[in-house]
Amino acid sequence: MIVVTRAVMWFRDDLRLGDHPALAAATRNGVDGVLALYVVDETAWDRTNSPRRAYRRSSLKNLADAIGGIEIAYGDPAVEVRRVARDIDAGSVHVQSDIDPHGRQRDGRVVAALAEDDIRFETTGSAYIVDPGDILKPDGTPYRVYSPFANAWSTRRAPSPPGVSATHWLPPRSSKFPDAEANTVSLPPAGEQAALSRWHAYANGALGDYELVRDNPGANATSRMSIPLAHGEIHPRTMWADLQPTDSAFRRELVFREFYADVLWHRPDTVEHYYNPAFADMEYDEPGDDLEAWKQGRTGMPIVDAGMRQLLAEGWMHNRVRMIVASFLVKDLHLEWQHGANHFLDRLTDADRASNQHGWQWVAGCGTDAAPYFRIFNPVLQGKKFDPDGDYVRRHVPELRDVPSSRIHEPWLLPDGPPGGYPLPLVDHAEERIESLARYDRIRR
Ligand code: FAD
Repeated sequence: MIVVTRAVMWFRDDLRLGDHPALAAATRNGVDGVLALYVVDETAWDRTNSPRRAYRRSSLKNLADAIGGIEIAYGDPAVEVRRVARDIDAGSVHVQSDIDPHGRQRDGRVVAALAEDDIRFETTGSAYIVDPGDILKPDGTPYRVYSPFANAWSTRRAPSPPGVSATHWLPPRSSKFPDAEANTVSLPPAGEQAALSRWHAYANGALGDYELVRDNPGANATSRMSIPLAHGEIHPRTMWADLQPTDSAFRRELVFREFYADVLWHRPDTVEHYYNPAFADMEYDEPGDDLEAWKQGRTGMPIVDAGMRQLLAEGWMHNRVRMIVASFLVKDLHLEWQHGANHFLDRLTDADRASNQHGWQWVAGCGTDAAPYFRIFNPVLQGKKFDPDGDYVRRHVPELRDVPSSRIHEPWLLPDGPPGGYPLPLVDHAEERIESLARYDRIRR
């Protein structure tokens, strides 16, 4: 008797065919045909931001072209994955693990639904070089500080990419893509091939200067691989394989991504709550017009406004500036980090809740490794240090285009004040710094 075995490969944040352990598992010997599936869970889809949706749609189209078609289902994954798997008589559904708390809950429901039909749900690999949750301290507890985590992490050898045998893809029955929508953000090309090209061009070029210029937002010197990584168009293992020991600064950042995923794995509550709960008791202001001015890039603080406007225009922001604008929101405007983190998730094409929530909590002083709370970014000094000629500010804040470099980070000092209707600073940084430290002191007592 010939046993025909079919499998479903359910793609989520892993829109690629190369270096994909879950796909390798789906196509292993004995599997006669694999159906590629993507589920548009409308509640989650509607919640995500429009640049991210536009990018995802384009990435999905690329994947569908490479496969020859993807089944696209709409609705609750627990219902849709089961329905599709039953329709093709699949014995198993394969996924890359999702470490996000919402994803973990959703997968739990899908496992239960599939179990009713005796269909296996197989999770293989993750979006990380070392699976989150795999590294523990010798006493069995999770790491709370980056450096010892990174040391432990480095003793794990990155497994080599698994080969995928020629896949017999089953034809989709329904492959209606989500509707295209108006998107005002200029997005980079999406898809696995574009990700690999971007990475190879970067690794063979600007990567050499990374350590030197990565903190200068005007230099456009970082890889911008966060977008393909967030959509899983490339696995970090593929990138790591091209890195040399001399690329230590870049390696360090990739390991930061792994660290934050590990932290979120152990503390799923930190997508919303304070990693260090003492900070929940700090006194914060209610969000109002200040938050809106911050979002629109009209705080009167040039480096902050340049960053916030870059976010609106490009769906991306340079890392140094993410730190500066985050510090300004929490320590100059005294707002809780969640307001800023949510706005980032609303606008970033690389939105990733592990790196975002923990990037925010790090800046706010309540996260892992905490940057000491009292180390408060001075936006003028940060601007002068990291954007000394003002190139970055001029690129994103046209009102200040003609301001000389000596005043670009303090346009209020110009004899006639800031030009072109650019606002005066919303707050006095020196005063807010003192206020911020006083509030911190009160929770330390
Ligand atoms: P590169 O400098 O070229 O770095 C290479 C890769 O290393 C990045 O693509 C990213 O995967 C990883 N990386 C770099 N810096 C960090 C970091 N500080 N933490 C974790 N991983 C890092 N990153 C996201 O991918 N999504 C987010 O939603 C996100 N939100 C953030 C919010 C705040 C407040 C802060 C301070 C940082 C946030 N980051 C986030 C981390 C970092 O800013 C971006 O990963 C980086 O700017 C992406 O640009 P790049 O690819 O050119 O980075």
